[in-house]
Amino acid sequence: MISVKNIASGLKVWAKSIASVMIKRECVCCSGPLQSFETDICTKCLLDLPSSFTWAEEDSPADKVFWGRVRIEKVTSLFLYQGRYRNLLYSIKYKGNIRLALRLGKMLGRAIASQDIDLIVPVPLHPRKKRKRGYNQSEIVCRGIEASLKQTAPSVATENRLLERKRFTRTQTQKDRIDRWKNVQNAFNVNFKKAGQIRQRFRDKGKTPSLLLVDDVLTTGATLDACASLLKETLDCRISIATLAYVP
Ligand SMILES: [Zn+2]
Repeated sequence: MISVKNIASGLKVWAKSIASVMIKRECVCCSGPLQSFETDICTKCLLDLPSSFTWAEEDSPADKVFWGRVRIEKVTSLFLYQGRYRNLLYSIKYKGNIRLALRLGKMLGRAIASQDIDLIVPVPLHPRKKRKRGYNQSEIVCRGIEASLKQTAPSVATENRLLERKRFTRTQTQKDRIDRWKNVQNAFNVNFKKAGQIRQRFRDKGKTPSLLLVDDVLTTGATLDACASLLKETLDCRISIATLAYVP
């Protein structure tokens, strides 16, 4: 149902996106001028992107974040959250740069193209926060990943409504590590109707579904751990994780 709030929120995103695309012709990372053939990131910054290459390693530092916790098949991050590359996430989260989120999502999708993925699941934002921002950046990243994966796996789909956020959490940056951990415990719900449909669909196929849980950044892993644990309690599934950035 289209509400006034949704329309207002949509207009806000549109205005932000236009502003970021039309006015700024500078690199999101280094603020240097962009050439006419470049978009958002200059060629030098793109070539120097500190790739974490975690998808190539068996037991990468990103995989180790979840050791001793919930079982995760593979953790993949596109780049290390450091230096000027932190601006990429800032632009996506606070400047309405949806085009950049989509582009980086596609790059992330290409990095995990060899993985067996059935469903892509974004970490949800609380509805209030989503209304304020106008979008959930993780959902946009999922759209990019899906576009890439569909080239070799046409049946892959995104499930935006499988996970729900039930408590409003303050911005994570204001909290220390222990507070963050406590903050995300019990912050999520599974949509049981959706989960039931998925269970039935994969039972008919005789397959255990492989889920890809997606967030913008991997820090302590608390949020992703909470989501993955909940999904595993509700569904018989395998879970991998993909994030744009990894905080080393
Ligand atoms: Zn640059």
